[in-house]
This record gives sequence, C-alpha cells and structure tokens, in this order.
Amino acid sequence: MKCRHCGSTHMLPFLDLGTAPPSNSYVNAGERHLPELWYPLVIRCCRECRLVQTEDFADRETFFSSSYAYFSSFSTSWLNHASRYVADMQARFGLTEASHIVEVAANDGYLLQYARERGIGCLGIEPTASTAAAARARGIEIVEAFFGEALGEKLAAEGRCADLMVANNVLAHVPDINDFVAGFARLLTENGVATFEFPHLLNMVHEAQFDTAYHEHYSYLSLTSVRRVFEANGLSIFDVETTPWHGGSLRVFAQRGDTGKHPVTAAVAATFSDEQAAGMLSDAFYTGFQAAAQSVRDGFLTFLIESRRAGLKVAAYGAAAKGNTLLNFSGVKPDLLPFVVDKNPAKQGLLLPGSRIPVVTEEFLKAEKPERVVILPWNLQAEIRQQLSYISDWGGKFVTAVPTLTVHP
Ligand SMILES: [Zn+2]
Repeated sequence: MKCRHCGSTHMLPFLDLGTAPPSNSYVNAGERHLPELWYPLVIRCCRECRLVQTEDFADRETFFSSSYAYFSSFSTSWLNHASRYVADMQARFGLTEASHIVEVAANDGYLLQYARERGIGCLGIEPTASTAAAARARGIEIVEAFFGEALGEKLAAEGRCADLMVANNVLAHVPDINDFVAGFARLLTENGVATFEFPHLLNMVHEAQFDTAYHEHYSYLSLTSVRRVFEANGLSIFDVETTPWHGGSLRVFAQRGDTGKHPVTAAVAATFSDEQAAGMLSDAFYTGFQAAAQSVRDGFLTFLIESRRAGLKVAAYGAAAKGNTLLNFSGVKPDLLPFVVDKNPAKQGLLLPGSRIPVVTEEFLKAEKPERVVILPWNLQAEIRQQLSYISDWGGKFVTAVPTLTVHP
C-alpha cells in the first residue's frame, strides 16, 4: 500500500480489526435472509510522514449512504459549541458584514445559521442531499459537492474567496487529503483563516479508543502529520487548541503559506512537544496499539460471559459507528447482547450491521429492565447516564468498555 499523502510504501502496522461491514449499513428486518458485504478494516502508519490511514478496499460510495445521514442539529451541546465558535472567530478576526465564511461539510447548517444571525455572508459545501436540503431550509446557500482543489479554484474564480473557512470533523473523512487541503489554499483570501477540528490521535492511543476506527474514517491525525500535509499543499499552521469532542480533539488554525500574516502562537510548539514526549515520532507508539485494542475486546467479552453466567440481563445503548466496530471486532451477537436502544426513530426496528443485534426503543428498555446497560458511545456517557438515570430504580448499572471495562456504581 502507498501512503495517501507522501506516496511512501514504508508502512507500519497500527490496527487490524479483521473484516467488518460498512458501519452505516443497517439491515432491514425483512432483508435478514440476504448476505452482507464485509470489507477488511486495516489501518497503517506511514513511517515517512506519520499519517495513520485506512487501507482502501472499496470506493467511497460504498461507505457513504445518505439513508441514515447524521443531522448535527440533533445535539444541543454541539450547537452551543458552534455558536460559541462563530462568536469567538468574529471577535478574534474582526469579521464584519463584508466578510465571507465558507464551511466545508456544512451539514444541516448547524453552524452557518449563527453566521447568518450575525449578518456575515456565508456559503456551505455539503455533498449529502438530505442535510443540504435542511441547510437550505434555514436560508443558507449550499453547493452540493465534495470539496477539493478544483472546487476551491472555481469558487475563487467566481470571486467567492473566504475570510474564514471551517472544517469540523471532515479532514479525517476525506480519501484524498492532499486535494482536499489544497482547496483551502485556493479559496482563502490573502490573510484568511481556516480552522480544522479532528479527533487527536494522541488521545485515541492513550485512551485505547480503537472503536473510533471504521471504513469512512480514512485518517487518524496528529499535529505532526497534519503539518506535513498542510505545508505540502499551501497552508501553514499558526495556532492550535484542544477541545473535548470525540474523546479529545484538536482545532488547528491555518493560513496561506504564501501570504498569511497571523503570528504563530506558543501553543503550536507546546502541542508538538506533547506529541514528541508521547513518543509519536517513534515506531513503537503506533505498533503497540493492536495489543491495546485486543485488551479492550478481552475485557468486554469477559464481562458479557461472566454476566450471563451470573444470570444478569445485559443490553446496550447507542446504535452508532463506534459500537459496531467494538461489537464486530469482538464477535458479539444477540445471544450475548440481545438488544441495543437508540432514540433515533430511523434506526429503531433495524438490525446492526454484522452483529445483527436489533435496535429497539427506550420503552422496550423500560419493559425489559436489564441489570447492565453498556453505553457504546462512551464519549456521550455523561448525557446518556443522565437521560437513563431511571435504570437505578430496578438496580440497573451503566457499563463502558473503553478504555477498560468499567461497571459504574
Ligand atoms: Zn506518508
């Protein structure tokens, strides 16, 4: 395999999860007699540029289905994050009504609605039709496409250069990371700013978050690897912040390498030295991750088997990508975990891909009264534990499997 950034063939093993179906390919109960397609899920680290990346086995179209599109506006805390972001950027970079914001992966307009409220001109780029339609319903102009260098150049030629570009949780999901980043360098104004948020590889490894791996997640990023990709494609980094999202994320601030004038903050050097101190320049940092993933799986399986032997009923909460990765890597089926609860009505009544565990409503949970509820999206556990606090009425306890199996008192 060749590195998607630098073309090197010198790859280190990082994570091999065997095979798994695409994480969003939920099965209709009426189609349970049909086979599912499982693809290898293997992630490697380029020894030259340290970009951690999935090995490609299928086209992007295989993994991006719009049927169960995620609407960002479903999460109140994420909306608050977006609103605060727009206010902070306006104050820091002096955005006015004459400024122009472009968001790549604008989703349902969850963020640009706040730019609009403040009278700042904005444009969203969003390839998924259902979310793009929701953004348009908010009065936000959307270009329905995948972003890259050609689209950046086209919009710049139309005089639509951006003073601020936003890319939240999309950099890790693009197959051609060079082309994607080059588009930002084309579309930014001379002193424009682009911000990128992505889960930090440092946390993924330290917290054994191997279940954040799935086919559509092409890159697992650090400041070290992102700097190389950016510099090779016309961007330079001038600031970085940490955010708690997705188990610990970075927000990187970049400008055009040729014309940007924002001074480089001390946070950039500090984050590089954190990464260096964690060993991210050494091979061992990457090659030791497989053992951590196997240890999580062993703890999870031991818990399920011991619970069954003790006669305890176990259920799960949260039918999302993370859970599917954990369940399929662990080989768990409905005999060990009979149902998963999810509040999204579009998923209720379906079967999880691979494990074929049925997705049920919260009413079903209340009727079954399981003694243990495994929270699969561990990053949302505070919110979920509050929402389902009533399980303590029947002696129920919450369980998380990552980074180590924990039964919460
Ligand atoms: Zn490379």
